Amino acid sequence: MLKGKNAVITGASRGIGREIALAFAKNGANVVINYRGNEELADSLAKEIEAYGVRAIKVKGDISKFEDAEKLINVTIEEFNSIDILVNNAGITKDGLFMRMKEEDFDSVINTNLKGTFNTSKAVISKMIKAKGGRIINISSVVGVIGNAGQANYAASKAGVIGFTKSLAKEVGSRGITVNAIAPGFIESDMTEVLSDKVKETMLNSIPLKAFGKGEDVANLAVFLASDMASYITGQVVHVDGGMVM
Ligand code: NAP
Repeated sequence: MLKGKNAVITGASRGIGREIALAFAKNGANVVINYRGNEELADSLAKEIEAYGVRAIKVKGDISKFEDAEKLINVTIEEFNSIDILVNNAGITKDGLFMRMKEEDFDSVINTNLKGTFNTSKAVISKMIKAKGGRIINISSVVGVIGNAGQANYAASKAGVIGFTKSLAKEVGSRGITVNAIAPGFIESDMTEVLSDKVKETMLNSIPLKAFGKGEDVANLAVFLASDMASYITGQVVHVDGGMVM
């Protein structure tokens, strides 16, 4: 479905980003793995991607810094000549009840999840406009739609991503670029592994399909939104949440 396309995925070393990278490779896309820390994880992912007969390059960088985001896009252009797909997946949580939430925990979550999405999109958009097409897929969250106690910073960042997605979609639609958001519910990953059994049980009870999601569930939708089959879909927020929010 993505044969010959060049895709950049932020925060691809682990979790949902890793699954998106593998699913894109499986569907024929060359993949740029952006990661922040773990060199070994990025190396092993690159090998797995290349086993599908496509190219993989690794670009280390913190997407909350504009210069790193710009470098990510520039290195991709140098290596692959073009960027067809950008997936803004990198994200963090710094949970806590608002009364106790520190200013730095608010800032770091906004800077990674929302400003990071701005940084990479800003760096790529002129390239996509020049190419007369492109796909931007932003990973939001159901929490950005319904809010969550203990996640005022995270919910604000993910709601911001939704507003950003819709606004950019309106601006660049006439240039053949689609911008959509995915709102995952509870997906098994390092991010959700840290939650207590009590929180997990409460979550599970609120999911009609009575199961937690997997990275592949999000990746399958990302492949579709990045493909030609989704060329008439833009500005949408699609939930992958087992029916948790409807
Ligand atoms: P995860 O397992 O914690 O992985 C997060 C990834 O993002 C890691 O590869 C991490 O790199 C990278 N990252 C974090 N900050 C970065 C930065 N400043 N620059 C570059 N990379 C950075 O999380 P996940 O569960 O896969 O979540 C992926 C996305 O889905 C996030 O945006 C998250 O908010 C969203 N989401 C997740 C769930 C869920 O239930 N899991 C639900 C809704 C939405 P390092 O290895 O260097 O830390």
